Amino acid sequence: MDEPSLDLRSVSCKNEKCGLYGRLGGGNIAIRGKYGPQKNKVLLYCRGCKRRFAAPRTNPFPRIRQSPAMIGQIVVSYGDDECGSVRKTAERLHLNKDTVDRALHDAKEYCMNEIHKILDSLYIPHEQFDQFWKFIDKMRGLSGRDVQ
Ligand SMILES: [Zn+2]
Repeated sequence: MDEPSLDLRSVSCKNEKCGLYGRLGGGNIAIRGKYGPQKNKVLLYCRGCKRRFAAPRTNPFPRIRQSPAMIGQIVVSYGDDECGSVRKTAERLHLNKDTVDRALHDAKEYCMNEIHKILDSLYIPHEQFDQFWKFIDKMRGLSGRDVQ
């Protein structure tokens, strides 16, 4: 599976003693090389303090061998009223039931993490997730009319 490419602007220095610690998009982060048994892990370094550190994982689905596009198809198929079950999704996409089950579990975790990031960015307490979701649903109903 191809790893999505790493955007260095989304990574900051991990050295708390560095003057560039936590600063995004400063141009101080560079790729130092690859490491690991399959040489698939990226080693970064900070030009400011010269400290090396591991790149954050870019694949949100490390347990699943399917591509993100296939995981998307699994999610959509499972959400489709005419399909809607693990067994039917597996049949439709010619996948193993366990693969579909794992993909759905990991996709749920991924989506919830992303939604929590959105809630945090809007200072909405996580307990008000339902109201946030109702907002999304209402906005979908308005799409093409009042909301762009
Ligand atoms: Zn640094």
